[in-house]
Amino acid sequence: MTTIQDNIDAVKKQINKTALACGRDPESITLIGVSKRKNADKVFEAIKAGSTHLGENYIQEAVDKIETLGKTSACWHFIGHLQSNKAKFAVRYFDYIHTVDTVKLAREIDRQAAKIGKVQKILLQINIAKEETKSGAGAKEAISLAREFSGFENLSLDGLMCMPPFFSDPEEARIYFKRLGMIQGEIREAGLENLVHLSMGMSNDFRVAIEEGSTMVRVGTAIFGGRD
Ligand SMILES: *Cc1c(COP(=O)(O)O)cnc(C)c1O
Repeated sequence: MTTIQDNIDAVKKQINKTALACGRDPESITLIGVSKRKNADKVFEAIKAGSTHLGENYIQEAVDKIETLGKTSACWHFIGHLQSNKAKFAVRYFDYIHTVDTVKLAREIDRQAAKIGKVQKILLQINIAKEETKSGAGAKEAISLAREFSGFENLSLDGLMCMPPFFSDPEEARIYFKRLGMIQGEIREAGLENLVHLSMGMSNDFRVAIEEGSTMVRVGTAIFGGRD
């Protein structure tokens, strides 16, 4: 059996190799270890093994773990669906929120961030394959939402996030990653130069995502093993 340390080392190696092969600086890619449904002991193991960025999907579960491990033990990314009534916790505990997809949610995050004097880093989530079962804004609304989000004083819109359908052949996800990169290009051309991040790529397809410009890969299974 491989350890979490072995897995992290292997994923980092693949990130480096993929980046260099397509002429990118490996340092421009952040590895986010996705620790949903994994207990604090496992997460601590990942931190000791050099995981400096961690991603969580469920607020209550995440708050418990972050309280146990300490907020400064890692850079915390919220990557699950966020309801407005939980925004307060997301703002208090997370450095980045990847899943902002409506003005209503952005407004509530801004309000909660203002209360504690924080500028919250957020990403705009796009439902890139228009799947009914997934959250995310439509690609057509991306520019207007990006403008609105950028207008909030206590938000810093830093990029875009997507989660394409699962394909056993990761090559099939490439078109969606490419599409997110194109939307980013359009938004930046419209004057929102701060949109530097593309949060895309998971265990099965992070290499393809890196080739298409990902700056944040969210890797769970390949680091922590399967989830029951
Ligand atoms: C669970 C999850 C991941 C990690 O998925 P793996 O296939 O286990 O790497 C990445 N992003 C989001 C949004 C997730 O919910």
